[in-house]
Amino acid sequence: MIHLVDIDKLPALSDYSQVAQLTHAVEELRSEASTLVPRLHGRRVWMVNSTAQGGGVAEMLPRLVSMLNELGVHTRWAVMNTDRADFFPLTKRIHNLVHGSGQPEFTAEERAVYDTVSREVAAEFRQMLGPNDVLVVHDPQPAGMGAVLKKELGLPCVWRCHIGLDDQTAQTRAAWEFLEPHVRPYDHFVFTASEYIPNYLSGHVSIIHPALDPFSHKNRELSVHKLVGILANASLVPGAHPVLTAPFDPPAMRVQSDGTFAPATLPEDIGLLYRPTVTQISRWDKLKGWQALLEGFVLLKQRARTSHQPERQHRALEYARLVLGGPEPSAVQDDPEAVGVLERLIDSYKALPPEVQRDVVLLSLPMASRKSNALMVNTLQHCSSVVVQNSLREGFGLTVTEAMWKRISVLGTTACGIRQQIRHGVDGHLNAHPEDPAAIADALEGLLTNAPLRMAYARRAQRRVHDEFLVFRQLARWLRVLTETVDPERHTLPPVV
Ligand code: UDP
Repeated sequence: MIHLVDIDKLPALSDYSQVAQLTHAVEELRSEASTLVPRLHGRRVWMVNSTAQGGGVAEMLPRLVSMLNELGVHTRWAVMNTDRADFFPLTKRIHNLVHGSGQPEFTAEERAVYDTVSREVAAEFRQMLGPNDVLVVHDPQPAGMGAVLKKELGLPCVWRCHIGLDDQTAQTRAAWEFLEPHVRPYDHFVFTASEYIPNYLSGHVSIIHPALDPFSHKNRELSVHKLVGILANASLVPGAHPVLTAPFDPPAMRVQSDGTFAPATLPEDIGLLYRPTVTQISRWDKLKGWQALLEGFVLLKQRARTSHQPERQHRALEYARLVLGGPEPSAVQDDPEAVGVLERLIDSYKALPPEVQRDVVLLSLPMASRKSNALMVNTLQHCSSVVVQNSLREGFGLTVTEAMWKRISVLGTTACGIRQQIRHGVDGHLNAHPEDPAAIADALEGLLTNAPLRMAYARRAQRRVHDEFLVFRQLARWLRVLTETVDPERHTLPPVV
């Protein structure tokens, strides 16, 4: 089955360009569009994926589709589905294998299921297509369907793969071997990092990074009143005054010393508006390096007691607090691994001596309202001296981009996605040993005790996001991919970077 998704009205490019800090980026996009969009004249672009809601791709597509239309590229969004119960478990398995985990074998039945669904959906989608259409197919689920249409109709087709691993294992090889006949027929391929490209694809491959929307709730600028209001609404600071907006229901919850959850103002104010705060916000996934980060922070606190830092630096370490935040437990009930990671963190927290426990905050962020959740993430990142993303592996790491854009200094790791963003010692610090608490403690100490260094990283980090990881740059790259795909003879442009 295939259905079309209509997109709610989103901010226009002219709205963005009124913000002084964004004017240049929008102008650059418009100038690039003025030469590229005419080459797409008369074309209709289809973005195809497998879900209209949930997940990064579904979140990013409305904005991409809306902005392409605004620039004059007729673009539609179609979502594939199927009644066959064994299809999505199979594509989930492929997804996990691409990330290096799972059983690296496929049965003939599994291959047949994928072939059948691909052909069924293609047969239905074909009715909606015209001779001037261009397909942009996202991720493995609809890849086979796109390949069928490519072979039957000869339309220009792009495959955009949002996943990948910078390593080759039996698992990744099995997944890419499975996908090979379903992706090879495409004209052009788009990956998030060159490390993720399977070796049988060469030639027409472009890199497009994920990007930020500076007007989104997670990334928009907040006035001081708005920021404090959100913190009060979320119970992240005590409500000392009335605020205009209603409290979030439920509020952010914090793990207490007995392991239970209570509003985050208990047992006392976290100190987000006063203290040097080190924050990591992520999914409860062991690859996010939570445990070592907690241990690194505890080590830092122990060291601080005996350190011979000058008074001011000593206080920075003494007052610092660690905030570890992720989705509320009920939102991850169907993910036993996530439940396990959170439970283990809670156990480690309960075992901390009271004087260290006071400085560590485990937060459960409600997911019922995406807007409230995004605003909470926004304020927590804003109130941080250092945002950490201690990932052992990372596809890209939007949390890093989010903090960089807010001009917060970041402690990242050398995981593939993070090193695409941060240049070590330029726009942040990359720790090559995310499982080593001592290395984390060293890096945190270096950042917390050196405000000028943090500021220098933060300034350059925002500039880097402005130049590379905002939606405007992403859109310009899409325009290049689309024009090169429909018009492969005309290589008048420098290669897409
Ligand atoms: N995030 C969120 N609420 C949470 C935890 C995470 O909104 O409680 C967001 C986070 O701000 C980021 C996204 O989830 O935008 C995670 O994307 P990222 O690329 O960092 O990692 P992934 O989860 O895709 O591995």
